[in-house]
Amino acid sequence: MTERKDELAGNLAKVEERIAAACVAAGRKREEVTLIVVTKTYPASDVRILSELGVRHVAENKDQDAAPKAAECSDLPLTWHFVGQLQTNKVRSVVGYADVVQSVDRSKLVTALSRGAVRVEREVGCLIQVALDAGERERGERGGVAPGGIEELADLVTEAPGLRLDGLMTVAPLTGEYAGRELAAFERLMDLSTDLRRAHPAANMVSAGMSADLEQAVAAGATHVRVGTAVLGVRPRLG
Ligand SMILES: *Cc1c(COP(=O)(O)O)cnc(C)c1O
Repeated sequence: MTERKDELAGNLAKVEERIAAACVAAGRKREEVTLIVVTKTYPASDVRILSELGVRHVAENKDQDAAPKAAECSDLPLTWHFVGQLQTNKVRSVVGYADVVQSVDRSKLVTALSRGAVRVEREVGCLIQVALDAGERERGERGGVAPGGIEELADLVTEAPGLRLDGLMTVAPLTGEYAGRELAAFERLMDLSTDLRRAHPAANMVSAGMSADLEQAVAAGATHVRVGTAVLGVRPRLG
């Protein structure tokens, strides 16, 4: 193995151990939680190594980095998640490689994603990003719609050609009533997911938890954790 492959294999094993332990602690089966490795700012060569090591889900947050990387890795059996704030002028590019967009937070974006997905004849999975630090019906500091806006967006996605409603996503808030209370934040997301599934039973993905708080996410019931730093190392630049 190369040095980098050794390093990533070791990190992956540690993350796997953490997820497994969190599942045991929560009385959940390991298969209930899917690891998504967030490869933002890291090169396509790392994505290739991760694929060789058995990773099947990767995530990116900036189209200008993600698009060439996804193109370089198009031969790999990977599911690509887009997790960053998304401007409508980038949608055309993103729907070319993203299987799931986890950051759907406004109706204009739904319209653009639908048009783009139809154009390239792909079905794009959508998670509604929930901002737990926003006032009712507002948007969060780091994107996301307030809980009061979920239902309307969910209905829009469901009716939009080319799109599939998969569930909800959140990032633990740094401000507001949930600041520093990751478990409470993720439990709130689970309650919102339960509400959503009454009208949309197939939308059962719950994406929560990153390197620092994946245990809390698994404890709350997350189906997907998004882990960057703990697998790839501290990012060389902001992203
Ligand atoms: C970067 C990022 C992650 C991963 O964060 P780490 O702390 O590096 O694990 C997860 N989710 C989103 C939306 C991100 O932008």
